Amino acid sequence: MVSKVDGARLWASLMEMAQVGATARGGVRRLALTAEDRRGRALFTQWCEAAGMSVRTDALGNLFARREGTQTDARPVLIGSHLDTQPEGGRFDGVYGVLAGLEVVRSLNDQGIRTRHPLEVVSWTNEEGARFTPAMLGSAVFVGATALDAALQTRDAQGVTLADALRECECAKGTRPMSTQDVEAYFEAHIEQGPVLESHGHPIGVVTGGQSIRWLDIEVTGVAAHAGTTPMPYRKDAFFAASAMALELEALAERFAPQGLVTIGQIDVPNSSRNTIAGKLSFTVDLRHPDDTKIDAMEQDLRAAFDRVAVQRGVSATISTYWRSPATPFDPACVALVENATRELGYAYERIVSGAGHDAIHLARHVPTAMVFIPCVDGLSHNEAEDALPDDVTAGANVLLNAVLARAQVVAAATASTTAPAPAAAPATARA
Ligand SMILES: [Zn+2]
Repeated sequence: MVSKVDGARLWASLMEMAQVGATARGGVRRLALTAEDRRGRALFTQWCEAAGMSVRTDALGNLFARREGTQTDARPVLIGSHLDTQPEGGRFDGVYGVLAGLEVVRSLNDQGIRTRHPLEVVSWTNEEGARFTPAMLGSAVFVGATALDAALQTRDAQGVTLADALRECECAKGTRPMSTQDVEAYFEAHIEQGPVLESHGHPIGVVTGGQSIRWLDIEVTGVAAHAGTTPMPYRKDAFFAASAMALELEALAERFAPQGLVTIGQIDVPNSSRNTIAGKLSFTVDLRHPDDTKIDAMEQDLRAAFDRVAVQRGVSATISTYWRSPATPFDPACVALVENATRELGYAYERIVSGAGHDAIHLARHVPTAMVFIPCVDGLSHNEAEDALPDDVTAGANVLLNAVLARAQVVAAATASTTAPAPAAAPATARA
């Protein structure tokens, strides 16, 4: 049998939280560890305590609100996302996953449902990377992918260290240990931040993992020369060579469609001048694909094509890897819990790979993890106009609730009442 959340209450909480750092154009500006973030954390803490949870923070200000399980030494199931936003962010990115976690707990309270495993609703610090880089810093430190000291020394654009920002907003009491050892599983609900679910009419995306990402730096070197005195056949034009490479990339994306994605995000022509043939040009390439072997093939194709263009046009091209992140499949058992919950609730859905980075990507490398996506209107995110439909918001939280219940193990009310009076009689060995 499925349980349901109170969708109206969740929506009301989302709208109330959206007032914290609200912008004139209907968005939200709640940068990590600012006064607005502090107010958002305080409101969330107040709601959690009202729901009977105890709230702790770790050394990086990641915020954990705990609902005890019937077996107190069982590992907690974490549910969460982030409360910080982009400078001109929306009302749903991140905050949806946190407040959906809170709504799960509120609903369990209403329905008198106990779970064997404790639940912890978490808000990760500095997910957006808008104030301190890199993004997803709180979860990176929690799982040990980034050292705590290095993170604390990170500075914002004004030169303020993250350590000072934490001190100022009193966000890091360090009362919860940072360890993935004590985590049973992690579930995160999030808006899709793209147009796919909406265009397919699916209220739910069952996320199977994060895609492989590769960032390359390309430098094309030709010969700078006078625009008026150099006949076309004599030129070694870095710009036209790079343009030919760009068209090769577009064709490459076509060959790996629809999953392969190729983006040239930055172009730099140093010392450019209106009447000089470009002698040097650099650009960035962002390659993405859910499959690591496919992204290898994409990079091979890119290198072959760029070599070909360079020879044809008498320029040289160097290709270097700036950063790479392997594909991160989510835990099949947790993904199955999300999919089963979606089916039992009767929602139309599809399996989907996360295009964006999320805290869940860090968690997934250490603990069983899954995500639930809901559509966002026009696929818009990182935008003040970001929006989601109340029915979809409710559907995602319902899926989250039932997936979490399956993992955290519902303790039957009858069993709880018959065993509760005599806990001392239960032998320790009975705790599986
Ligand atoms: Zn987010």
